[in-house]
Amino acid sequence: MMRYRISEIKLDIRQSQEELPTAVRKKIKKKDLDIHDLKIIKESVDARKKPDIKKVYTLEFSCSQKLPLKEAAERKYQVPVADGSGKERPVVVGFGPAGMFAGLILAEMGLNPVILERGEPVEQRIKTVQKFWKDGILDPESNVQFGEGGAGTFSDGKLTTGIKDIRIGKVLEEFVEAGADPGILYKQKPHIGTDKLQGIVKNIRRKIEMLGGEIRFGNRLEDIKLSGENKAGERTLQQVEKVIVQKRKEDKSTELYELSTSCLILATGHSARDTFEMLRDHEAAMEQKPFSIGVRIQHLQKIINEAQYGDGSLADILGPAEYKLHHKCENGRGVYTFCMCPGGDIIDSSSEPETAVTNGMSGSARDGAYANSGLLVDVKTEDFRSEDPLAGIAFQKKYEKLAYRQGNGSIPETTYEKFRDDMTDPVRNSLPDFAVDSIVEAMPHLGRKLCGFDAPEAVVKAVETRSSSPVRILRDESGQSSIGGLFPAGEGPGYAGGIVSAAVDGIRMAEKAALVIFSEKPNI
Ligand code: FAD
Repeated sequence: MMRYRISEIKLDIRQSQEELPTAVRKKIKKKDLDIHDLKIIKESVDARKKPDIKKVYTLEFSCSQKLPLKEAAERKYQVPVADGSGKERPVVVGFGPAGMFAGLILAEMGLNPVILERGEPVEQRIKTVQKFWKDGILDPESNVQFGEGGAGTFSDGKLTTGIKDIRIGKVLEEFVEAGADPGILYKQKPHIGTDKLQGIVKNIRRKIEMLGGEIRFGNRLEDIKLSGENKAGERTLQQVEKVIVQKRKEDKSTELYELSTSCLILATGHSARDTFEMLRDHEAAMEQKPFSIGVRIQHLQKIINEAQYGDGSLADILGPAEYKLHHKCENGRGVYTFCMCPGGDIIDSSSEPETAVTNGMSGSARDGAYANSGLLVDVKTEDFRSEDPLAGIAFQKKYEKLAYRQGNGSIPETTYEKFRDDMTDPVRNSLPDFAVDSIVEAMPHLGRKLCGFDAPEAVVKAVETRSSSPVRILRDESGQSSIGGLFPAGEGPGYAGGIVSAAVDGIRMAEKAALVIFSEKPNI
């Protein structure tokens, strides 16, 4: 048997995948070809000739004949080998995608990691977040940003990423093993949905525990103890020796304890502002990073379907339509849509009291009546007007607090028409002037790219500040920060932007830690 890969196999969107073998035979003009173990490698949608839309496949299959096709060569991720004997257990901080996958790989290496997560397990976290959305009572330790599964647990669960990496296959396969639809392995724009994600993160937690890892919820990294000295003018020789953890008990009282470790993977996300401050106090090398600010905009999903498919009823076959828009303003700033949620809801994703922070989420069916997305404007480090590496966080906080006041204690809301025309509009007044001007300039251009996007009645809410980290914690080739044994991972330290890239970076940092601390070379 030979195994081949073939691309550009097209089906009409109404045809079923059962017809793929026939389409392959037709393409290579061999009516009697025996096709075995057909596997879809990629499925994308070609909507260039609306409403004549096609699904386009890349496939692998086995057959007994020699064909003039490319041979299939599947590359699979292999977990590195490590030796933990005589060493303390590695500590991972954060159980979002980066920490979860770092923890999983360390557990698969047999290193029995301890994972510290400040928030609650997902079952309790859901109740706490629902209470916040209903009564406005925020738990600063367990909310949309903090808790099992990290920032993306209440999300659309889009798995699209701009990176190319063999580790992506590992991440997607783990999601499928934990309960995701196998279609995520080949779809061009895979997504999971918040309802499914909540079960998936729980199943990955169980797998890590079965492999010897330990996850401690309600345990916040409070401080680190270092050995060695920080010699003036020289690269620091300091090394992580211990972590100090604040444990939250059931009655919400707290106690501190210490854990010895020479390996600390820090995957605390972009909202752990106290953790960034602690690292700045220890003089960990970090720098300001540009990010974005803006609003969430909402339209009727049927308007988006009509604009994208030419015929709105095609959404019944293709699913609710998505979009991604961009405009470069005359002031040099980019305005772009981000984290679009088809059939979803706008949510309050604050993690600190008296702040208003927007984001979006959808269920796996994406069957809500509305579509929303972040509508964001570039923020440059010059906008911070400070040299402090954490000045971007102060900038975010300023507008999050302003939005809360403008919304009289919750998320301010308006229409695009009022945002544009009314100088007293609460959403307009929740943003810096440059962001308002850029959005107003960009909207007619975006409306030309997607009919109806700039409709006067589009709903606009504020403020969207947490699309990426405003800080970068520097790390060297070995993955370590300026503090030895400290491996910053994921979105918080500025090395990822989304669920998949954060998970991949978590895996990468687990490999680096294995190489540096547990003295084995990764075998990929
Ligand atoms: P995080 O997910 O932020 O995880 C960090 C974890 O560390 C948290 O659980 C936190 O509680 C914990 N932590 C923080 N400080 C400490 C401490 N001191 N001690 C112990 N634990 C600590 N991305 C997508 O790709 N697709 C989407 O559809 C999508 N939708 C989103 C919707 C929403 C509402 C939000 C908020 C984000 C969304 N994102 C989406 C972004 C995505 O969630 C993040 O990019 C990703 O979660 C980053 O992963 P991470 O592991 O680096 O950090």
